[in-house]
Amino acid sequence: MTTWNEYVEKSGTVPEWPYPIRYDKENEITSDVLILGGGVAGCHAAISAARNGAKVVLTETGHAKRSGSGGAGVDHWHGAVTNPCSKVTPLDYTQAVMECAHGYSNGIYRYIICKEGWDTLLECEEMGVQIRDVKDEFKGADFRDQETKLMFAYDYKNKHVLRVWGYNIKPCLYKEMKRLGVGIYNRVTITSLLTEGGRQGARVVGATGINSRTGEFYVFKSKATIAATGGAGRLFSFAPEMTAAGSMGSMNGSGVGHAIGWNAGAEFVLMEQTGPGRLTGFGYTPYSMANTSNTYHGTPIVDANGKELPWFDPYGKELKTVLERFLPSPEQKFQLGIGIGLYYYLKQYVLNDLTRDLPDRIRNGEFALPLYADLTRMPELERRVIFGMMVGNEGKTRIPIYDQYTKAGFDPDKDLLQAPVMIPEAYQNSNFWGGTPIPHLRSLAGGGFLVDWDLRTSLEGLYAAGGAPIFGGGCHGESHTAGRYAGRKAAIYARTAAEPVVDRKQVDAEKGRAHRPIKQSKNGVGWKELNYAIARVMQDYCGRYKNERTLHHGLRLLKELKENEAMTVYASNPHELGRTLECLSLMTVGEMVMQASLARKCSSLYLDFYRLDHPQMDPPEWEKLLPARLENDKVKVRELSLDFHLKPPYTSSYEENYGLHAK
Ligand SMILES: Cc1cc2nc3c(=O)[nH]c(=O)nc-3n(C[C@H](O)[C@H](O)[C@H](O)COP(=O)(O)OP(=O)(O)OC[C@H]3O[C@@H](n4cnc5c(N)ncnc54)[C@H](O)[C@@H]3O)c2cc1C
Repeated sequence: MTTWNEYVEKSGTVPEWPYPIRYDKENEITSDVLILGGGVAGCHAAISAARNGAKVVLTETGHAKRSGSGGAGVDHWHGAVTNPCSKVTPLDYTQAVMECAHGYSNGIYRYIICKEGWDTLLECEEMGVQIRDVKDEFKGADFRDQETKLMFAYDYKNKHVLRVWGYNIKPCLYKEMKRLGVGIYNRVTITSLLTEGGRQGARVVGATGINSRTGEFYVFKSKATIAATGGAGRLFSFAPEMTAAGSMGSMNGSGVGHAIGWNAGAEFVLMEQTGPGRLTGFGYTPYSMANTSNTYHGTPIVDANGKELPWFDPYGKELKTVLERFLPSPEQKFQLGIGIGLYYYLKQYVLNDLTRDLPDRIRNGEFALPLYADLTRMPELERRVIFGMMVGNEGKTRIPIYDQYTKAGFDPDKDLLQAPVMIPEAYQNSNFWGGTPIPHLRSLAGGGFLVDWDLRTSLEGLYAAGGAPIFGGGCHGESHTAGRYAGRKAAIYARTAAEPVVDRKQVDAEKGRAHRPIKQSKNGVGWKELNYAIARVMQDYCGRYKNERTLHHGLRLLKELKENEAMTVYASNPHELGRTLECLSLMTVGEMVMQASLARKCSSLYLDFYRLDHPQMDPPEWEKLLPARLENDKVKVRELSLDFHLKPPYTSSYEENYGLHAK
């Protein structure tokens, strides 16, 4: 095989673009249901819509077989509370989440997930994903139900989070989509939504896209459309050479679904909620270092002298055994688990954890750095389920961590795994591999389309699915389940919906906008410079602390970037064109976050939201959602109660609303 250096040395030039370039070619594709984004939510939406009789088309920037945050796998599945061993009901779980979030989450989404999460997982099992210990490898373990062979994480008493062998989950979904005849358009980046008459706020009738290999332009016409484009991993930081492997967010996530929905006039909520950028990729490869979070929950940690760090329940009782770390305390109904899009937990639902004053105890010399994970101190089955089953199936860890470490000789039966050496404060959060938090880096955390009990957005014909485009969305299993529900509802809507008619003027305007970067002078900036500039504006003007002035400055800077650098940005091939268009979407998402931050004139613990000019925390008059949208390109904000989903036109009961809408 010729290396890059050898090739350039020999030929004296860089290789030609390997695909035919056809910017002028336009393709028109018609479907009942169009899915934007082929992550787990989009793929499951496609399967569900097709099973409900719809002609389905799915578009994906990458390749849907492995794309998205869940493309490399999953080791635990949240929200399947109707599994036969669970002691938690859909109502218990939904209320726990809503109480923890102080109402700033999505009760509709949670209840749907709880009602259908287990059925969705069973569907994955039918498609070839192992969800039970069929080989009896963990027979007799505390976390295994001996009858069903299901295995559980976090809370061994209440059994609502399942451990699964999900390394092949995306290929299984992909195969099923193919079997069902879904039209899959890989390498096609969606750039805009099409609306009836080209009007903002009107019914959505399709979308436009660009093929990032050939540059061909696509006009997708659809009766119903589902936004399943994930989050915006490149909004607050951009350094792909460093962070691509380490980030918890997909680098393809550039908030396109949010941006095109906003431009089309859909309503969004909670865009002001950003979270600490702990997992933005500036630490270490996910799960590569000692920690006790998530996959590694319960792992014993020792200091450099072999002294073990104590574990406590949320009420301050020391937990002496490994098993106790996986059991709720007597004061708790159940423990929720992390990674479900919740940024604040009440004591009655939070997980057991390492001693919470660890930073102080490191600073005063009681525990000496470095720290190490000592899996040898766990019972054998606990050890093997973590470093083996879970690390072997978790996203991004099967090859780089499990395989590589094992080949290099790491043996959890006798070796220790080191934690990163960081400033003492960084040990406050047990997810040590995230590295030392960088205070000005944030990430989107919960903002998205306002949806109804059909998971329909405020625009007719447009639905949302997945962890990010829906407000208050969460994790892997939840994304599948939301996709499955939205796919079904979109297919049902499409059965009686009018034929989609696209507005040619809207298409031509979008084509002109999308093609501008290929017609620019080569002196223009490149997409990476533009992305970095956007991230810097977000860090500086919309970080953890902000005020009216910083937000207005930030909006002005984004506008200037749009009117100057973005107008001259140059794309030398279809790939760069796709990335450039994503950057234009990122700018829009940045504006959405700043506009939402301006609208909330208070600070909030639950939203991790700090306005220096409005320091009062959670004053009662601000306990509400602030849906925002564009009308004639002007931002309109209204107020909505936090429990709007249980108020007219809906009923006051979760179960009744679900019953009225789910079919
Ligand atoms: C390392 C890692 C480990 C994780 N482990 C777990 C776990 O064990 N349990 C758990 O519950 N959760 C876990 N998660 C989170 C979980 O994977 C995500 O919540 C889930 O995969 C989100 O799925 P999604 O389909 O909503 O979004 P995404 O996975 O982000 O998919 C969105 C898709 O849309 C595509 N796309 C974006 N823009 C466009 C566009 N303009 N045009 C076309 N396509 C576009 C993207 O390429 C992507 O494929 C983990 C995440 C990571 C990164």
